[in-house]
Amino acid sequence: MSNGDKKYKARILGNRQLSPETLMMGYGFSPELSEGSLKPPVFHTSTFVFQSAEEGKAFFELAYGLRQKEETEEIGLIYSRINNPNLEVLEDRLAVWDKAEKSLVFASGMAAISTSLWSYLTPGDALVHSEPVYGGTEYLVHNILPSFGIKRVGFNAEEGTAGMNTAVADAKKLADETGGRVGAIYLETPANPTNGLVDIAAARKHSEALAKDGKRPPVIVDNTFLGPLWQTPLELGADLTVTSLTKYVGGHSDLIAGSCSGAESWTGPVQVMRTILGTMGDAHTGWMLLRSLETLKLRMEASTTGARKVADFLHGHDKVKSVWYLDYLPKDHPDREIYDRQCGAPGSTFSFEVNGGEAEAFKVLNALKIIKLAVSLGGTETLASHPAAMTHSDVPPKERLRLGITEALIRISVGVEDPDDLIADLDQALAAI
Ligand SMILES: *Cc1c(COP(=O)(O)O)cnc(C)c1O
Repeated sequence: MSNGDKKYKARILGNRQLSPETLMMGYGFSPELSEGSLKPPVFHTSTFVFQSAEEGKAFFELAYGLRQKEETEEIGLIYSRINNPNLEVLEDRLAVWDKAEKSLVFASGMAAISTSLWSYLTPGDALVHSEPVYGGTEYLVHNILPSFGIKRVGFNAEEGTAGMNTAVADAKKLADETGGRVGAIYLETPANPTNGLVDIAAARKHSEALAKDGKRPPVIVDNTFLGPLWQTPLELGADLTVTSLTKYVGGHSDLIAGSCSGAESWTGPVQVMRTILGTMGDAHTGWMLLRSLETLKLRMEASTTGARKVADFLHGHDKVKSVWYLDYLPKDHPDREIYDRQCGAPGSTFSFEVNGGEAEAFKVLNALKIIKLAVSLGGTETLASHPAAMTHSDVPPKERLRLGITEALIRISVGVEDPDDLIADLDQALAAI
């Protein structure tokens, strides 16, 4: 909460650095400002009362950037489109996980992604992005941004750094033609649903080489698949990391939210854009996410352990053609070095191909009894879906195949159930082929 109370913002005890999972229980919240309440109340209010006209003036001076902050000063509460206590506590705690100076919470992952891109792209600019990306992001960069005069150049994650090099060179040429610049480098790694990996440090080098008049394009990384536990893009060279909190962070498939984190110099313009577009999160969802964060590590560890067992089962099954689980990357695969450098664990969302095509994949999906047939991922329950017919159905078939999204591909997001129950379910469903 913006009370400047250092006691609740301590990240060290003596000379001991406190772990994020410890900080999730109290960091950033002062009970004495809320009747001694152990847990943050939900601040269902659109606006906040100033103690004096002078205080209101001071808050607005900071909110509108009319003057610099005094050393101990924090932006006061004004109006819930600008800030709200639930979001502020949540942002402080997300920043701990993302190892960021500042985190911003949004109404959805797509709100975080689109607001971040709008903050750095103007007509005539070019956007470089990896492929495949999440369906909503794909629609945004293919159909919406171009109608605002923004060009895009994508590269397939499977093409590795060579693909990225060509895309950056092409984007620079396109931007030069209209006097624009390469406005942003956007990566999704691991990619959905293929788990293709993109080298974040290589993208950062490109960004630095593109610097013009002291400005360079931000490297923005969608960290939804492994974040925040198993990958920290800001430590790997990213300037901004965006996450769909709907997935692992919310973790119970009962809310929609997103975040964008980074150094304040990079999040500043995004925060202004969020205030003006009104894409911020709401107090109640913020409160639910605070509760989710208390068990984030437990849930992500349990689902990662379960996923390993499920992947091992599928790996040896005679009805399964391939399993795209990150830990199976062969030592000589170019992604292996990137995986070892960037990722702390393979997470719990991966895809596998059954023998056959759509008909066989559908038979398996329809026969599942415990695992639910639904899109989304990162919840306590295990979900399975068919990317080609569902999340990626608007990608043209030829393009889909180029990206490796075949008709036989099933995506699974393993939850926290007993993995042996999940294996029994998959075993009986695969028998339907
Ligand atoms: C779900 C998802 C998004 C979009 O998040 P919403 O909260 O649904 O808006 C973006 N990127 C990835 C990788 C996702 O899985």
